[in-house]
Amino acid sequence: MHTFIADNLSLVRTQIEAACRAAGRPPHSVSLLAVSKTWGPEAVRAAHAAGQTAFGENYIQEAVDKIGALKDLPLEWHCIGPIQSNKTRLVAEHFDWVHSIDRLKIAQRLSEQRPEHLPPLQVCIQVNVDGGETKSGVSPADLPGLAQAVAALPRLQLRGLMTIPEPAETETQMRAVHRQAKDLFEQLRGQGLPLDTLSMGMSADMGAAIAEGSTMVRVGTAIFGKR
Ligand SMILES: *Cc1c(COP(=O)(O)O)cnc(C)c1O
Repeated sequence: MHTFIADNLSLVRTQIEAACRAAGRPPHSVSLLAVSKTWGPEAVRAAHAAGQTAFGENYIQEAVDKIGALKDLPLEWHCIGPIQSNKTRLVAEHFDWVHSIDRLKIAQRLSEQRPEHLPPLQVCIQVNVDGGETKSGVSPADLPGLAQAVAALPRLQLRGLMTIPEPAETETQMRAVHRQAKDLFEQLRGQGLPLDTLSMGMSADMGAAIAEGSTMVRVGTAIFGKR
């Protein structure tokens, strides 16, 4: 398992750098979030041994158990899955980042429940750029209002946007959807929000996302194997 994960990580890093080069972007302008959902602590340990420190999780209880089992390692944990109101306390207490903010109520609870001894929770707003079937994510029309409200919460730091577009048939279509997300991101920056993170691109659409300005790709399958 260890060499499998280490080899995959090195291949993914090479692909990210190649995509950056092809897009005329600095090779380290895109960071890699390793999505470890459904994989146990040993897989995360193997990835950490190969130099990976940021991990993404979808299922809150599974993640909290894993975070507890890996307390001895200096890891950064990102919540990328849907969050129900009754799970906000666990998220506020155990994660460093949340990518999946899609309503103000959840953001307010996270801010209220973020423990004093921890730094502000780093958050992205999930935007539903293509009106896709996942249905989670705020609509582009509601994004500016939500972004201003989230940015004003004391215990959150708004870092940017996250998208999970539906798979498209062609590279051109995929890039068009990613470009919409990038445009929304730049609009918010134009309104004075100091955003630096566009969480966009997974195993299948990493190249297209990087070409259109992603700053963080979330990769599971290409690192850990098929779930
Ligand atoms: C599972 C998941 C990923 C990783 O997807 P892969 O296709 O395995 O790379 C990325 N982002 C989110 C939100 C996910 O749920």
